Parts: sequence; C-alpha cells; structure tokens
Amino acid sequence: MSVIAIDVDLTVVDSLNPWLDWFNERVGADLEHAQLLQYNLAPIMRQQAAKQGHFDFDPYVYWKQPDLYDKLEPLGGAVDIIKKLNRLHTVVWVSHCFPEHENSKINFLRKFGENIPFISTQTKKLVAFDVIIDDNLDILNTIHDGRFRIQYNELSKPWTRNETVGDLLIDKWDSHIVDVIRAEELGRNRGRMWR
Ligand SMILES: [Mg+2]
Repeated sequence: MSVIAIDVDLTVVDSLNPWLDWFNERVGADLEHAQLLQYNLAPIMRQQAAKQGHFDFDPYVYWKQPDLYDKLEPLGGAVDIIKKLNRLHTVVWVSHCFPEHENSKINFLRKFGENIPFISTQTKKLVAFDVIIDDNLDILNTIHDGRFRIQYNELSKPWTRNETVGDLLIDKWDSHIVDVIRAEELGRNRGRMWR
C-alpha cells in the first residue's frame, strides 16, 4: 500500500480556463489559453487589464471567491480512478489554497469520497507520500529523493509543452495510473527486500 499525494488545481479540476473566462469578462480582454507562456498568469493579466484602462486590477480576486469550486466539475475519469486508488492505497489531497476558497475546495473534493484527508500547503515535499500526482513542474522539481513523481498534463499548458520533469507523464485519468502505481510499488518493495 502506497501513500499517494494528489494535487487539486489542474490535476483533478480545470480551474485555469474559468480564470481566463472570469478575467476576460471583467476586463473586456481576449486572453486565450494558447497564448499563455508562463506559469504565473497574474502579471500578464495585470498588463492586459491596464491596456483596457483597468489599473490596479487584482487577478487573484478569482482565487479568493468563497464559492470558487462550487461551480466546477472534476476532470473526466478522475472520480472513478481516485476512488479506486483510495481502495488500494491511501490517497491524500495536497493542495495550495487561498484561505478564502479552502472550504469550497474541501467540499468539492467530497465528490471523490468522504474519507480522503486534505493537507493545505505549498511545501509538498515535506508530506510523507510515496507517489505524487501533480501538474506543476515547480513542485515536482522540489522532490529529488527517489519518490515516484507523476506529472499530470491533461490541460497541456503552453508553458509545460515538451517538458517532462516527473518519472511518468500522464494526460488522462484512466486505469493506466492504477497499474503504474502498483508496478512502481512492487519494484519499491522488491528493492527493500534486497537491501
Ligand atoms: Mg496544480
């Protein structure tokens, strides 16, 4: 049995495109997913907002909505596969939150099962997991101790195109993930036996 840390934003829910829609609606801009070339979108949004005459625009207001996740749906296949993983292993959500949206995120995650613990942190490497599933290369890049890193790339963000940091790149939630984690665990246990 492995402990599997799973990220939330852009790993089990698309909270990025709704951010762009939210921004475009408020500012009258037409920022598109495909145009974006850097992970931190806030500076781009601020620039665009200023061009449209919205000075001092705060793009993070989106992330501070107390009902942010009430309106969002899990990515296809994620609920079934994560329920399955949690029957075979111990799943733990590890996610960076704005305090304002944390309760809404926790409520949203009940769709994946009631008994999955939630850890709110940006310093994910300090959590005692065996396997991590995350879309964020900056997070995966902090983990260099042999723990298994799955890079989740369904939303194929322009700034991660052609870049692989994890031990495995996955772009959809299907049973391949379950098989890979089981194989990785077998390999790890075999390694322990021979030590
Ligand atoms: Mg993420």
